[in-house]
Amino acid sequence: MVNAWDCLRSVPDPEIPVVDVVSMGIVREVEETPESVTVTITPTYSGCPAMYEIELSIREALQSAGHTQVEVKTKIAPVWTTDWITEEAREQLRSYGIAPPERRCASGNDLKTPACTFCGSEKTRLQSEFGSTPCKALRVCLECLQPFEHFKCI
Ligand SMILES: [Zn+2]
Repeated sequence: MVNAWDCLRSVPDPEIPVVDVVSMGIVREVEETPESVTVTITPTYSGCPAMYEIELSIREALQSAGHTQVEVKTKIAPVWTTDWITEEAREQLRSYGIAPPERRCASGNDLKTPACTFCGSEKTRLQSEFGSTPCKALRVCLECLQPFEHFKCI
């Protein structure tokens, strides 16, 4: 039987399929006993209506790996922060064309202008607070003039 954490790493984030629910920091705890698996998840942005979908995908992934008893719990405190996104997932976001959120943004430190995902220039400007989803803002690079999305930090 595949280890529960490894199963969960194969569950993509429904909105950004290049990253998974573990590297996004959505999966907080996994309790595995010989009979059952209990997964605790914390929703990301409240505006992202994907939690139900994530729960279903988690169940499906674990059950198809042979974990028949699966419980998914939702924990809303502490509130999810983009600081929980792993370094690896940040790189995956960048290569997917989404500027990753800044580090330690929850505490208000280290706020920088997100760099262009095409040329790396930091001369970018906010085009719209909302991109394809409420989680993302739309920015434009002032050097190469390409628009790109920025995963807003919370
Ligand atoms: Zn650029």
